[in-house]
Amino acid sequence: ASNFNQKIDYVFKVVLIGDSAVGKSQLLARFARNEFSLESKATIGVEFQTKTLVIDHKTIKAQIWDTAGQERYRAVTSAYYRGNKSDLGTLRAVPSEDAKEFAQRENLFFMEASALEATNVESAFVTVLTEIYRIVG
Ligand code: GDP
Ligand code: MG
Repeated sequence: ASNFNQKIDYVFKVVLIGDSAVGKSQLLARFARNEFSLESKATIGVEFQTKTLVIDHKTIKAQIWDTAGQERYRAVTSAYYRGNKSDLGTLRAVPSEDAKEFAQRENLFFMEASALEATNVESAFVTVLTEIYRIVG
């Protein structure tokens, strides 16, 4: 909920990238509005949503940008976008252990989340925002 008098200590920008239909928009909808839709429309261009949260007693406004799976990001994302939609266990493409190993090797954070089940969505965003705070805060 927004609060007119709220003092914002930091504004952090997060960009969601990855191929079309991997679930970027629904992850954001779950995090920002606690909503989920199976009939999600393709994102046109870029748009953002904000959510204000408190980390380490600081008020942080997260400005989260949703993108429409641009080709130019493909090289960056193709290796790890398959870790999403963790509720679809039977269709799993990458074993958790492989993903964890890859993330460790590449010095990346790894988390399996499901927008549908609302598992790990909050903690994925909070983890990213906490790391940004650790660096700049
Ligand atoms: P985007 O193109 O990356 O933004 O993908 P969307 O968020 O629009 O999602 C694409 C499709 O996958 C839609 O039909 C969503 O309902 C579905 N979807 C998104 N997240 C999940 C999830 O966590 N679990 C399942 N089972 N389906 C999901
Ligand atoms: Mg989208």
